[in-house]
Amino acid sequence: MIKRLLLFSFLFFSFVQLDAQTYGNEWINYSQKYYKIKVAQTGIYKINYTTLVNAGIPITTTDPKRLQLFNRGVEQKIYIEGESDGTFNTTDFIEFYGQKNDGSLDSLLYTNTSFVPNPYYSLVNDTAVYYLTWNNSTANKRITVESDVNFGAYPTLANYFFKEEIHDFHSLKIKNIEIIVIGKYEIEAWYYSPFPTQFQHSKYLYFCEFCLKYMKKKESLVNHIVRV
Ligand SMILES: [Zn+2]
Repeated sequence: MIKRLLLFSFLFFSFVQLDAQTYGNEWINYSQKYYKIKVAQTGIYKINYTTLVNAGIPITTTDPKRLQLFNRGVEQKIYIEGESDGTFNTTDFIEFYGQKNDGSLDSLLYTNTSFVPNPYYSLVNDTAVYYLTWNNSTANKRITVESDVNFGAYPTLANYFFKEEIHDFHSLKIKNIEIIVIGKYEIEAWYYSPFPTQFQHSKYLYFCEFCLKYMKKKESLVNHIVRV
C-alpha cells in the first residue's frame, strides 16, 4: 500500500510540475486578432484613425477602450485620445512609448546572462514588435494623464541630478569584409569580423573548403587547391 501511495504521489507531483510549465506565450489569446507594429527607434508613437482603418482594424465598430498593446508578452500602457465616448472618431489617435529592441531577448540564449556582449544592442534585430489587439474588457492598461499645476506640494528641488548616458559604438565599426566564399557558397558577412589587417579591406574573402585557409584572390585559391 505504501509503495502504491508513493508511486501515486510521485505521479501526481510530476503531473503538477508539467502543468506548471510556462512557455512565454501565455499572453496570447487565440480568439483575438493581433496587428504588428514595428519599432526600430525609441520614442513616442502616434497611430491615427486612417492608419488603423487602412490596416483593416475594425475601429469604427470597436470601443477604443477595448484596445490593448503588447510588447514582449507584457501589456503596455497606452493613451487613446477621445476614447471616453466609446467611439474612435476620425480625429482620435493612439499614442504609446515604443522602445527599439535591445540585447535582452538575446540574453535568453546564454546560460549566464553576464556573457551577453552588449545588453543594449541585439545581435539579431534592432526592431521590436508591438502587438495591437482588442478584447472584451473596457478596463485595459492606459497612461494616467497628469494635469497637476500646483507644484508647491512637491519636495524642494535638489541642486544636482543623475544622468546615465550610453554610447553604443556598434554602428561605427565598419563592416570590413562583405562576402566570404566557401566552395560554391557565397555568404554575406553580417557583422564586424576581426581578420588580420592585410585582409580587412577586401570585399571578398575566399576560403578553402578543405582546410579553411583564406585568401584575398580567387586565383590564389585555385592555385592552393591545385597544389593540394
Ligand atoms: Zn586548403
